[in-house]
Amino acid sequence: MGISIAIDGYAGSGKSTLAKQLAQKLGYVYLDTGALYRAITLKIIATKGIEYVEKLCAEKDIKKILRGTSISIEQRTEGNKVLLDGKNVSESIREPYISNFVSKIAAFPAVRKFLLTIQRSIARAHDCVMDGRDIGTAVLPHANYKFFVSAHINTRAQRRWLELSEKKIPISLEEVKKNLEERDIHDTSRSANPLRKAKNAVFIDSTHLTPETQLRVVLDVIARKKWESSNKIYNIYKSILKTFYTLVCRIEFYYEDYKVIESFSGLIVSNHISNLDPPAAGFGFPFQINFLAKSSLRSSILNPCNLILIDRDNPTPGTIKDVLQAVSEGQSVLLFPEGTRSPDGSIGTAKSGAGLIAHKAEKPIIPVYIEGTNHVLPKGAKFPRFHKVRVGYGKPYMTAIKEQKGTKARELYQQISEEMLDRIRDVQYKLENNLLTKK
Ligand code: C5P
Repeated sequence: MGISIAIDGYAGSGKSTLAKQLAQKLGYVYLDTGALYRAITLKIIATKGIEYVEKLCAEKDIKKILRGTSISIEQRTEGNKVLLDGKNVSESIREPYISNFVSKIAAFPAVRKFLLTIQRSIARAHDCVMDGRDIGTAVLPHANYKFFVSAHINTRAQRRWLELSEKKIPISLEEVKKNLEERDIHDTSRSANPLRKAKNAVFIDSTHLTPETQLRVVLDVIARKKWESSNKIYNIYKSILKTFYTLVCRIEFYYEDYKVIESFSGLIVSNHISNLDPPAAGFGFPFQINFLAKSSLRSSILNPCNLILIDRDNPTPGTIKDVLQAVSEGQSVLLFPEGTRSPDGSIGTAKSGAGLIAHKAEKPIIPVYIEGTNHVLPKGAKFPRFHKVRVGYGKPYMTAIKEQKGTKARELYQQISEEMLDRIRDVQYKLENNLLTKK
């Protein structure tokens, strides 16, 4: 079995473009499984006629047709060449009349079974990227990496309509949108392997992403997952600590938009009120993160915690380089813009160090607000007390503060750090006013 990457999602979500680019980048074989379903649809329509497919269409007839059908795929840089009974049908399977019936045909278990064999034999023989509807859930449930791509229906319709227009296929935007909506319903509601996100697939919302950014996000996730697999002890620590946070703190997580979390890579910035904060903020991410921590925490027991140690009084370029290296490899790093714990639980003043890192990293930033940890372990207390902890996560943002002529570097970094605290205050407001969603 080769390495396999499963990309599922809605029609027009950009998954084929992504899968094609990813396969090219990694030197893997690319398989557009939708093309296989389209080819079968073409064969059935060619054999029985459109009216039959529209009105009658029985599985026993389809089985008979499949017995005399051969489908194969040839790899081309511009995409797959689809051969149906030895004939190149790559163009004709994109016609709107095929799009109109393909989901109906794809719902027949006999069709899915027939194509399952072809898809799995490709995955057995090659490292591959496969895109479709049920790759992560049914075709390759043990795929090394799984993604689920979606986008707003208007964006998907616009993209598909542009593709068809470029191929000079006459169709209106409204018709394209209607077809996509109908297929969404068919694909998600059929009983045989419906379209749904595999539990361990990473969600990507491509509505506002260019193909290049989308590819970058996916490459980052793959790099991060490779890094995570090299540190298994982190997950053991995490589950032990989480038991404590669940029992003693009854910890709860709230999000402005959880969908964006799974594919996030960048900086995480939080208020700081207790030594319990780093795990509390980290638990809300369904993956390992790094923690920027004071150098006095250097110890072998904390080694597996992904600490990037910093001498707060004398930060070295080496530390900053470590943070930048981590985020450039798809990882995330938690830091506290205030530098140290707030004495009274309120958000204090920013230090310029966090801004310096953000300026150099040029990566998205997620603001986090932690509430209650200071009551569990007040400064100086030896033992924890029972107290509720809530953690709120905002949406990722890019700093709006840019370098300006005449501004000193330190001032610029300071402004970026202060912007972080503003964003954290915004999350605090949303958490306190029930504007975030609990997960
Ligand atoms: O990807 P594309 O839009 O070309 O797929 C055409 C149709 O084929 C989908 O709407 C879906 O009904 C079906 N399909 C499927 N399972 C896959 C791939 C495609 O059911 N793995």
